[in-house]
Amino acid sequence: MTITYEYQNALYVNLTNRCNCACAFCLRQGKAEGSIYTQDSLWLEREPSRQEALDSFLSRDVCRYREIVFCGYGEPTFRLDDILWLVDQLKERFGTDLPPVRINTNGHANLILGRDVCPELAGRIDTLSISLNATDAASYTALCHPIQGEAAYQAMLDFAQESKAYVPHVVLTIVDKDKTPEEIQTCRDIAARLGVQLRVRSFIDS
Ligand code: SF4
Repeated sequence: MTITYEYQNALYVNLTNRCNCACAFCLRQGKAEGSIYTQDSLWLEREPSRQEALDSFLSRDVCRYREIVFCGYGEPTFRLDDILWLVDQLKERFGTDLPPVRINTNGHANLILGRDVCPELAGRIDTLSISLNATDAASYTALCHPIQGEAAYQAMLDFAQESKAYVPHVVLTIVDKDKTPEEIQTCRDIAARLGVQLRVRSFIDS
């Protein structure tokens, strides 16, 4: 079972395959040849315990990586409590030598967990990379199929806006594939309105 894995000198962490979305482009579907996400090993036969995840970290030279990224083959914030516990454990051991910590997320943590988690990220998470994916709720829902329906789009935007009070780097991301220049500009405008960055990334990326 692959819990932590290296990619471009960062340490990626795979805690869950659960997700509340079913994005049309999702790399979990193995459509992107050559992507790290198509490796069968990233499908977990079961979710690792937080202790197993910590043991996986500690089997490595954690401080040599440029970044720690909670990502994986699903939405990591289904296990946010365990992520925060792990970060606390690692900070206790490595202090300021610990590389910056990022979560790649769909921005639905508050919906998934039923509480406002943003304050809990303070001092633990350095970067939130949040998938914006679309310029409006209807097209977002058609693309990502969140089980919460169209409300998930606004929830994601609210999460991005609120979390910037607690997390130093909040970035909205879009995939360039199938986006017009006008749509990309609209996404830039949305990010600017929320006071966060926009990152336009290629289809196969980290
Ligand atoms: S939110 Fe992420 S993990 Fe979930 S379906 Fe979409 S791309 Fe896949």
